[in-house]
Parts: sequence; structure tokens; C-alpha cells
Amino acid sequence: MSTKQVVIIGAGLGGLSAAIHLAARGCRVIVLEKNARVGGKMGELQAAGYRFDLGPSVLTMRSVVADLFATADRQLSDYLTLLPVDPLTRYFYPDGSRIDVRRELADLIDALEAFAPGDVEGYLAYLAYAARLHRLTGQAFVYGPPPSLASLAQFSPFDLLRIDPLRTMSGAIHSFVRDPRLRQLLGRFATYIGASPYLAPATLNVISYVELAGGVWYPQGGMYALAQAYERLARELGVEIHLNTPVRRIVVREGAVQGVEVEAGEVVPAAKVIANVDVATVYADLLPGGAVPARVVRRILGRALSSSGFVLLLGLKGRHPELAHHNIFFSRAYRGEFEEIFFHDRPPTEPTVYVAITSKTDRSHAPRGGENWFVMVNTPALGSGWNWETRCGAYRNLVLARLAGHGLDVRPEIQYERILTPLEFAQVSGAYRGALYGASSNQRLAAFLRPHNRSPYVGGLYFAGGTTHPGGGAPMVTLSGKVAAGMLLEDWRK
Ligand SMILES: Cc1cc2nc3c(=O)[nH]c(=O)nc-3n(C[C@H](O)[C@H](O)[C@H](O)COP(=O)(O)OP(=O)(O)OC[C@H]3O[C@@H](n4cnc5c(N)ncnc54)[C@H](O)[C@@H]3O)c2cc1C
Repeated sequence: MSTKQVVIIGAGLGGLSAAIHLAARGCRVIVLEKNARVGGKMGELQAAGYRFDLGPSVLTMRSVVADLFATADRQLSDYLTLLPVDPLTRYFYPDGSRIDVRRELADLIDALEAFAPGDVEGYLAYLAYAARLHRLTGQAFVYGPPPSLASLAQFSPFDLLRIDPLRTMSGAIHSFVRDPRLRQLLGRFATYIGASPYLAPATLNVISYVELAGGVWYPQGGMYALAQAYERLARELGVEIHLNTPVRRIVVREGAVQGVEVEAGEVVPAAKVIANVDVATVYADLLPGGAVPARVVRRILGRALSSSGFVLLLGLKGRHPELAHHNIFFSRAYRGEFEEIFFHDRPPTEPTVYVAITSKTDRSHAPRGGENWFVMVNTPALGSGWNWETRCGAYRNLVLARLAGHGLDVRPEIQYERILTPLEFAQVSGAYRGALYGASSNQRLAAFLRPHNRSPYVGGLYFAGGTTHPGGGAPMVTLSGKVAAGMLLEDWRK
């Protein structure tokens, strides 16, 4: 066995990112993936002449993706074309009003002048505030290793207050803008990490900054082109990717990793293993009993979870020129939606509905005259409160009726349809109870409670992916792969 052999469990974006960083530094990397394709939550489907992305639809933080290619001395543009999306999103409200959040600030200000003229200044002040959050928290919470007391000590008391940990996201938003529709729009960014704007700390207003200031990108060919580009680069660097190869357990002896055992029985030796699987799933299913103290496992498995999602993939025979690439149809009672998700363990009765249509940008994704709709609603993770097996059809009808309530009754136009529930998300990627972003961020110290990228219990075990630092979402898990690889190499040098 080469001493520099690393096994990575899972070929999600975080696992592939870690593989690229390690292979670019001369390690032998073996990726073991249970599915027949790479990408994990990012997938694609072709059916009845339509093409769909199965998971992520919004890509932000282009520079994070470009940096991954640069780490291997490659140009992103040789692997992937990222097209700017404008408007970033079109927002529709129950009172019939709507606003396009435009890419250029000047265009957005024009739109705001017409939509909420009294809030233009407040919006700009909010943007400056979110930019400051990004500047203050970037290195300590996002781009570097996990935050620690030492990293916090670098903040002056004044800056600690300016990262705004004591208010909620919505509390801060309320102090900047008055129009309830604009408050709803800015609060919506909490859902990018599966949280509620009424509970998550105001520091997380940083999420809106990366989209509103940095823009939204669309990988030509579909979101899945991103996973394919990571796969291509990894293979070029010599990474061995074994598909259809589920790992049954991580082999641990005397507190240190020895390798992994695949379902077929073979043991692949390695002194270092990176798990790209949900951390809770690793603790519950992949580590042998006793490797981690039982109270720690109970604590990790008992944590409140981020939200999951209900997705309808709709192949429509008609076109809807009033819609953009990304669209949000807001509900009347936004707070109530999050209360249903996080306190009552049920999907919202009157949900906000997101509709992404890649055929707006890529005509080939739907037959002539048609559109491919990715319709998503936030739901709780799997729990005792809701049975998707029996209630899936009724909820599908409710979501389509909500769209009809916004004047978009597409039911007669459906040529192809597929439903994805939290059950599928749990099964496809190993997401613990189907939660899309791991432990909940609905609490003040969320950034400190995230499982660390280096296991404190098992020597040689590291984590990369959306349930560890710095968090979920395509760019964040890309960073997470970088952090895990960096820690592994640092330990190897010791
Ligand atoms: C519906 C939906 C919408 C989303 N929207 C967005 C969005 O618009 N923008 C955005 O940035 N993000 C979005 N996300 C989140 C984003 O997709 C994830 O944060 C990110 O893709 C997760 O990457 P990951 O590295 O954590 O790996 P995952 O995607 O979780 O992949 C883990 C991999 O591990 C493999 N695996 C699990 N167990 C084993 C085992 N025992 N043996 C071998 N392999 C195993 C799985 O098969 C999988 O391939 C969305 C997610 C979903 C589901």
C-alpha cells in the first residue's frame, strides 16, 4: 500500500473537490461511490424529450469553482462554460405584484424605484451591511478551516458585534427595509442552508450578499455539467473513481482508520479516509460500534435538522413567457411556513413555490414549444409527523393548485412528471433523514456546532461535504473538500 493512498467515500461535489486537491499534490486517490454516477445530490434526468437537473439549480460563488481548477493548473473555461443569469430571480407575490432582481445594481435600483420606492436606500444599506458581514466573516467562517475560539479571538469586540450574532436574520432585515414583500425576499436566503429567517442568526445575511453582489451562474448544458467537469478533472489527475461501489464500513483499529470495506466484502487499505457522506450517516452506519463514544453518536443523531425538499419535475407542452429562468411564488404567511416545517414537522399548507426552467436558457432541454419545470417546496426532514408514501399525491396536487392560484394552471400541459420527496434524497445521497444541509442552522452558534472536517475520535478520518464545515450548497462543499484535503496533508507532514 502506498503511504500516500487516500480513500474517499462518495463522489458528491465535496468528495470530488477533495480528490482533486489531493491528486494535484501527488496523492494516490481512490473514490468509492455507491451510485452509478458521480454528483450525489446533483444529478440529471432525461425523459420524454425533456432534460432535468435533479438537485441544485442555483450556482453562486463562481470564483470558488474557478479556484478548484486553478489548484490543478487548469482553466475553468476549458471544462465548463458558466453563463450569467439575468434576472437572478423573478419574484411573484400573492397580491399580483412582481419584481425582477437584476444582475446590475443600477437595473435593480430602477426595479426597486417602481416596486418599493421608500426602501431603495434601506436596500442599499442592507447590501452594504451584508458586504461587511462577508468581509468580516469570510476567512473565519467560510473560506478557511472551521472556526475556533482562537479564530474568534482575532475579532475585536467591536467586530464581534458587527458580525451580528444576536439578532435573527429577519430582525436585521426589518431594521433596513419596511416593505413586507422585500423583507420576504431578503429572508428567503435562509432557505439556501435549510434554515428559517425567523430563527437563524443575522450573520447568515451574508448568504444574500454572495448572490445579490456576485450573481447567479448557469453551467451550459445544465447544472450537472458542473459535476461532470469535476469528474473529468479528477480522472485526468489520476483519481480512480469506482462507481456502483457502496462502502459497508470504515475499518478502525486502535482508534485509527485502516481502510474501508466495500459491500462486496473487499477491504481497501488506507491510512487516511475522507467521508463525503452525511456525517450523521457515517456515525450511524459506517463506523464500527465503540469507535466513537455512544453519547457523541446520540448527540450527533439527536440534533435538530435542516429542511428537506419536495420536488416536481414537469415536462410541459406549453411555454410561459411571463416566467424567467429562476422564479419564486411567495405565500401570504411566510413565517407560518417555517413554523410548520420546524415546529410542526409537516410541509407547509400554503407553500412558497420555486420554479427553475433551464430551457429558458438552453432551448434543447425541452421539445419544441415546451418547457422543463423544476418545482420545489421546502419541507421538514423525515420525522414522525408526515408520511410521504401515503401523502405524496395529495401534496403534489396542493403544490399544483398553489401555482394555479398564481395564475399558472399547468395541469393540462403536463407531458411528463416525476416526484422527488425527502425519501429519495435520503436514499440517493445518504442524507440523514433526508435533511439537505445536515444539522439545523436555526441557532446562534450553528457555525461552531457543525461537525469538524477532522474527526476528533478516529485518527485518519476526515469529512468533506454539506454536513461539515463550511456548510451546504455547491460552492460551500467545494470549499469543504479543500479544507478536508488541507487538513489531511497537514497531518501527513507532521
Ligand atoms: C433538491 C435540492 C436542491 C438544491 N438546491 C441547491 C442550489 O440551488 N444551489 C446549491 O448550491 N445547492 C443546492 N442544493 C445542495 C447541494 O446539492 C448540496 O449541498 C451538495 O451537492 C452536496 O454535496 P456533498 O459533497 O455534500 O455530497 P452529496 O451530494 O451529499 O453526495 C454524497 C455522495 O456519497 C455517496 N455515498 C453515500 N453513502 C455511500 C456509501 N456507503 N458508499 C459509497 N458512497 C456513498 C452518495 O451516493 C453521494 O454520491 C440542493 C440540494 C437538493 C437535494
